[in-house]
Amino acid sequence: MCKKKYEVLKTFYGYDSFREGQERLIDSLLAGRDVCGIMPTGAGKSLCYQIPALLLPGISLVVSPLISLMKDQVRALNQMGVHAAYLNSSLTYPQYRKALGLAKEGRYRIIYVAPERLMTPDFLDFAVSASLSLVAVDEAHCVSQWGQDFRPSYLKIPDFIDSLPARPVVGAFTATATKEVREDLIRMLRLKDPYTAATGFDRKNLYFEVRHDKDKYRQIRAYLQAHPDSSGIIYCATRKGVEELCQRLLADGFPATRYHAGLSDEERYANQEAFTYDERPVMVATNAFGMGIDKSNVRFVLHYNMPKNMESYYQEAGRAGRDGARADCILFYSGQDVITNQFFIEGDRENEELSEEELALVRERDRERLKKMTFYCHTTECLRDYMLRYFGEYGSHYCGMCSNCLTAFETVDITAIANDMIGCILTLDMRYGVNTILDVLRGSRNEKTLRHGLSQNFYYASQSGQSIHFLRQVLNQLMAK
Ligand code: ADP
Ligand code: MG
Repeated sequence: MCKKKYEVLKTFYGYDSFREGQERLIDSLLAGRDVCGIMPTGAGKSLCYQIPALLLPGISLVVSPLISLMKDQVRALNQMGVHAAYLNSSLTYPQYRKALGLAKEGRYRIIYVAPERLMTPDFLDFAVSASLSLVAVDEAHCVSQWGQDFRPSYLKIPDFIDSLPARPVVGAFTATATKEVREDLIRMLRLKDPYTAATGFDRKNLYFEVRHDKDKYRQIRAYLQAHPDSSGIIYCATRKGVEELCQRLLADGFPATRYHAGLSDEERYANQEAFTYDERPVMVATNAFGMGIDKSNVRFVLHYNMPKNMESYYQEAGRAGRDGARADCILFYSGQDVITNQFFIEGDRENEELSEEELALVRERDRERLKKMTFYCHTTECLRDYMLRYFGEYGSHYCGMCSNCLTAFETVDITAIANDMIGCILTLDMRYGVNTILDVLRGSRNEKTLRHGLSQNFYYASQSGQSIHFLRQVLNQLMAK
């Protein structure tokens, strides 16, 4: 093992020890083996490629999607005394030529480059003549259409690497890699037998819970009454939701404030300050709130609505308990949240880089991720386990710190009901949705069942003795499984 990495860690970064996962990723790159590093935001991925870049001979390239990220990192490196530069569209052409000229002279150890640049003649000309020892792909999920921020230009990375005279070692890094994204990463970036590490997602001090009660407001009020001196965030799906909930809480005497993108800059700033300094310790907000806030004593994150996917949920819930003390993450689920999210997915036109076809694919995958989020709300297994598995971290199946682990479920045999459900769905050629299926099973005589002649179905009224609520639970369980 390389001792020098500790020297670099100390002299350049001022740290004494590595965090979970970092060391083996660094060792692998130094030994010439590709890596795939999956760690949550803030875990320290940059160091995993920067330290090898400083120890390997020659130049290292870092492919990064965001100009602001590149600028920050390059500034930090130069402050540490490492010669680094970035090449992206924020440079004028003369500036770009100059930087490339210096790069050719071997002035930089680390060069950050935007993916669009890689296959341009100027850059290729430099790259083939330089001795590149490492290509690090940051935010590597951008290569996958399963990821949240698909960037078609990331697909050029493997072609770029192939056009080099000698293949450098390649490292891919991301914070969000579900199984699908991880497989895509490895395949699409053509990593060679990569050492893969998925670490650091578990936050042991967070308690997770899902509630299905109808009266969300009463629940939230009760929670706040039971935790009068705590600070926390309540996330709502829409601005309107924020307005309404905040109003009600204020009317009921809670020290709430609000945050969403529809407010003026001044109000957003003032409200965030009031929350940060505990003048108004209860923040009601949309997902616009949270980026860059660094409040360590957030004791709870309540979700008044279910977010659109597990990535969003884990990021938002993860704002609780930064100080390491226990904090609660409670999601208040209702079926309506699924519908709201479906509506958002169909209406999303944000990414202008995508063609119609790609957009259709992205939507398809968004729907899939919404499904996984919904299953989280219905599973009876350990919630933490479900989440960690989603992020690729496999471990124990009982955490003792979530509502499922702490609940004694009544186990009932649902074989007969499940058989009837599946039978009913199949004999109706899978043409009907959940509500209709449940109506048929219960033998409803409503307009739709009669008009479509569904009372002729073999399974009609086969479960007429069960409550709709129970049948729905069973169906949700089957879908989650
Ligand atoms: P990521 O890219 O994974 O979101 P960064 O690479 O930006 O995270 O690192 C987040 C912060 O953690 C940075 O301030 C970095 O200096 C710090 N950090 C990284 N590794 C260590 C370490 N071994 N010890 C202490 N701090 C670290
Ligand atoms: Mg990073």
